[in-house]
Amino acid sequence: MADCIFCKILKGEIAAQKVYEDEKSVAILDINPVAPGHALVMPRGHFETFSDLPPDVLSALSQAAQAVARGVMKATGSPGFNPLMNNHRCSGQAIAHAHYHVIPRKPDDGVKYNWPAKAYPQPGDSEKVAGEIRKALGK
Ligand code: 5GP
Ligand code: ZN
Repeated sequence: MADCIFCKILKGEIAAQKVYEDEKSVAILDINPVAPGHALVMPRGHFETFSDLPPDVLSALSQAAQAVARGVMKATGSPGFNPLMNNHRCSGQAIAHAHYHVIPRKPDDGVKYNWPAKAYPQPGDSEKVAGEIRKALGK
């Protein structure tokens, strides 16, 4: 897509530190990492979100993210990592080309997710929303 930063990186029009590539996926270092080694794993094709990925692209991307995570952990000596994907602007997606973040984690690294969790307010609320989701899924 013409005005997509990641498509420009994939075409070589913008420089990036490439750490992995295969037929369907590419991984680069995030320019503003949460921690050194923070990588972004993206499909070669332009798809906006997780929901838009065709099955073969999703499968290849997930396998690439796993391979990259293993490499990032080994190279950075991190015993853990967070794989995550922001989808749509309301979730924090700034670049509309689907990508996994692979964020290396170490004990007491101070990295915190910024999402306050809270209990369902009323008894029965979780049953209600679970039912709505099952219905949406046709289950
Ligand atoms: P999002 O918010 O869309 O999930 O994540 C986009 C990520 O892309 C951000 O973490 C940001 O630092 C990174 N980013 C933005 N522009 C560039 C760039 O030009 N090069 C690289 N390597 N990363 C970028
Ligand atoms: Zn793109």
